[in-house]
Amino acid sequence: MLSELVLKVALYETLYTIDQTLADALRVKGCPRANCNGRLHQANYSRKPRGGPDEIGDAMLIRLSFCCSREGCRRRATPPSVLFMDRRVYWRTVVVITAALLQERQAEHSMGKLTRSFGMARKTLKRWMAYFGEVFPGSQVWQRLRGRVSADIRNGFLPKDLLDHFLMGKSLEQGLVGVTACLKFLANGHDF
Ligand SMILES: [Zn+2]
Repeated sequence: MLSELVLKVALYETLYTIDQTLADALRVKGCPRANCNGRLHQANYSRKPRGGPDEIGDAMLIRLSFCCSREGCRRRATPPSVLFMDRRVYWRTVVVITAALLQERQAEHSMGKLTRSFGMARKTLKRWMAYFGEVFPGSQVWQRLRGRVSADIRNGFLPKDLLDHFLMGKSLEQGLVGVTACLKFLANGHDF
């Protein structure tokens, strides 16, 4: 189910809508610099993430971001994102789902099969696994989020346990809702 979901344009459309909401919430606060009070203007980055469906429209290949409009300040403000993951060149949903599938340890989702399906290099996938295995469990983001979900979620099985938590009890059709909720949850842990 998850491997099919990664290729559904509807998932990215839903995530893009969430990114817009996260961006609006940041924009209304104005410039983040203390005592500036400048208005934030759009100053997006254009991106070309890999691993998703080819049919994704150009309008969604944008990392929403802002810049203070006040001369002499121009402070940048970038909201959290459910579509993009830091500077990684793959969609966040591809990173999270691929890592979770590998953690399931099923023959059909071996490292070789996953890298062929989604087109990333083996070393890229290994880097993501190292991130989820060694960096993410000790990160501030996870420290903020940890207490908001079940204690059954094991730090050694992230992101799989977290994704399972959001997919629990959901039918195949509701998979999109579960994945979206999981990514939204992760984005909420970012300090902004
Ligand atoms: Zn400013």
